[in-house]
Amino acid sequence: MKRSIPAWERAVSRRVFLGTGVAAAGFPVLQAAGAAGDRPGNLRVGTFRFDVTPPIGHSLCGGWIRPVEAVDDPLEAIGYVLLGCGKPIVVCVVDWTGLLNTAHIRWREALAEAADTTIDRVTVHCVHQHNAPFACVDAEQIVLEQGDLPHIIELDFFHRCLDRARTAVETALRQTQPVTHVAHGEARVVQVASNRRILGPDGRVASQRGSSSRNPEHHRLPEGLIDPMLKTVALFSGAQKIVASHYYACHPMSYYGDGRVSADFCGLARKERQQQEPDCVHLYFNGCGGNIGAGKYNDGSKAMRPVLTQRMLQGMVASEERLIPEPIDSLKWVTHDIFPPPDRERFDEARIMKQIADRNQRVVSRNRPAYTVAWLRRTAKNIPITLSGLHINRTSILHLPAECFVEYQLNAQRAASDRFVACAAYGDGGPWYIPTAEAYPQGGYAVSVAWCTPEIDPILTGGIETLLAKAESG
Ligand SMILES: [Zn+2]
Repeated sequence: MKRSIPAWERAVSRRVFLGTGVAAAGFPVLQAAGAAGDRPGNLRVGTFRFDVTPPIGHSLCGGWIRPVEAVDDPLEAIGYVLLGCGKPIVVCVVDWTGLLNTAHIRWREALAEAADTTIDRVTVHCVHQHNAPFACVDAEQIVLEQGDLPHIIELDFFHRCLDRARTAVETALRQTQPVTHVAHGEARVVQVASNRRILGPDGRVASQRGSSSRNPEHHRLPEGLIDPMLKTVALFSGAQKIVASHYYACHPMSYYGDGRVSADFCGLARKERQQQEPDCVHLYFNGCGGNIGAGKYNDGSKAMRPVLTQRMLQGMVASEERLIPEPIDSLKWVTHDIFPPPDRERFDEARIMKQIADRNQRVVSRNRPAYTVAWLRRTAKNIPITLSGLHINRTSILHLPAECFVEYQLNAQRAASDRFVACAAYGDGGPWYIPTAEAYPQGGYAVSVAWCTPEIDPILTGGIETLLAKAESG
C-alpha cells in the first residue's frame, strides 16, 4: 500500500521513511495486514515506559516558574506499539506540560524509527502537568539567542529522552503479546472538573477559575460545562487485560510553581492504579481539557493533592468495572492533516521579537512569546498538524492537538453517537489554546494565548468529522 509523502515529511524525516521498506520483513508473522478487518489472531502489542524526569535546575513550564529543586515523584512516558494492522502503530503519553512543533515531530520520528513505521502512525500526547518540561525546541532556539533567558528545554536532556524512547520501543518489540479483545467503559468522576471560564452578565469572561482557587465565589459557582465521564479503552489478550487507556478532560494540576516535580493528581492516580494491576499497563490521557480545571474543588493546599488523586482513581476503577471484552473484528488507523492559520494581526512576529529582546520585561513576557513565534514560523512552512483516530470495532479513540476546549470532545461524541468515542488532546501543542469560535469574543486568558484565528474551530471540527467518517468507510 503506497501513499504519497508530502514534501515537509520528506524533509523532516527522510531517515524514517527510508527505513519503512523493511517494516514488514521485520515481522513476517504479522505482515498480512490490510487496513481493516484484521483477523484477531494477527494483532500483537508491545508496551513500553521510560523516565522523562528533568534534572535538578531544569526549567519547568517554559522557564517562568521555579526550576527543578526536587522530585516528589518521577515523570514517565508510557506507550504501546500495535502490530498486525499494516505498519506498526505507536501511541505514547508523556508526563510533560507539552510537546510542540519540531519537538513533537522529533518524538514521533524517534518512536517511528524504533518501531519501523512512519510518523503518521505515531501519536504522542502530554498529560500537561506544570511542574514539568514544556518542550519546544524552536522556542528554545529563540530564547538561547537572547543569551540571558532561562532555557525552555535543555537539548541534551531532550535528546536523552529520545534515546530512551528508541531503546524502550526496541525492547517492547521483543516482548509482544497477542491482542484478541477490546473493551470500553466509563464512569463519572466526582468533584474534580469545573469550567475555568466564569462569564459575566455581558457574556464576556469575568473571572478565570484556575486549577486552584481560594476565592469562595469560584467554589460556590456551578461546575459549568464539563465532560464528567472518565473513559477507558482496554486491550485484552484472551481473558487478561494488558493495556488500559484512561481519558478525562481536566487540567491535571493541584498546585505547582514550587520547583517540586510531580506527575500530580492525574498521574498519581495512574501510578496507584498501575500498582494495583502490575500485569496491565495503564495510560492516562488528558482529554479536551483546555477550559477545564479543578478550581471549584481545589484550594491549592497540599492536602488536596491526595484527595483529588483518590477521586481520579475511583473514576478509573469504576470505569474499568464496566469493561466487557469483545473479540476484535476490525481495527483501523486513520489520519487527517490540518493547517490552522495563525492570527498574524494579533501576533506580529517583528513586534513580538522586539518584546522578547527587551530585558526590562519579565521572563514570562519573553519566554512565552517565543512559543508564539515558533508557531508563526512553523505555519509559514506549512507543516501540518496530523490528527489521527484508532477505530477498534465500535470504539474510536481520537488523537487531537494542544489545549482544545471541552466542546470539541462533547461534539465528537455527539457526532458519532453510535460509537464509543474517547478523546486524547494535548498532542502537538503548537497552537496553544484551541477555543471554540464562539469563545473568542468572550475573551479571557485562553483566548489571549490562542495563536490561531477562530477559523481553527471549523478546521478542527471538520477534521474530527473526517476521522469519524473514515471509521465507517471501506
Ligand atoms: Zn493549560
